[in-house]
Amino acid sequence: FRAMSDEQAKAQTATPEEDTIFDKIVRGDIPCKEVYSDDRVLAFHDVNPTAPVHIIVIPKNRDGLSQLSKAREDQKDLLGHLMYVAQQVGAKECPGGFRVVINDGKDGAQSVYHLHLHVIGGRPMKWPPG
Ligand code: C5P
Repeated sequence: FRAMSDEQAKAQTATPEEDTIFDKIVRGDIPCKEVYSDDRVLAFHDVNPTAPVHIIVIPKNRDGLSQLSKAREDQKDLLGHLMYVAQQVGAKECPGGFRVVINDGKDGAQSVYHLHLHVIGGRPMKWPPG
């Protein structure tokens, strides 16, 4: 038996419709340590980092994009932009390499239902993930 992590526990109860903590960060209601911002995308340091570098990249307008599996065809350009920003941030902060992760749904251990990319690095990563 292994106890669930906080993130896994939250993933069991979060629902796709809620206004999320990331909407509050985009609005400025909750502060964040910003890394990058443009008209469509915001990147900031994760409050609970799993590695020396752990950055979250999100679309500013959630627009139904609560999780990757809900992505619509007309959002393909935004998805590409999110990955490009992840690449820019990762290459700058982690010159030795990095990992980009998207958790989707309960089995993917997603806890915040506002699409986000994790950019993780600053140490050698293990594979496979748990
Ligand atoms: O992929 P998942 O939904 O589990 O990831 C959510 C991430 O958002 C976690 O890594 C958590 O630490 C982070 N978070 C944050 N700031 C908050 C709330 C959650 O960086 N205020």
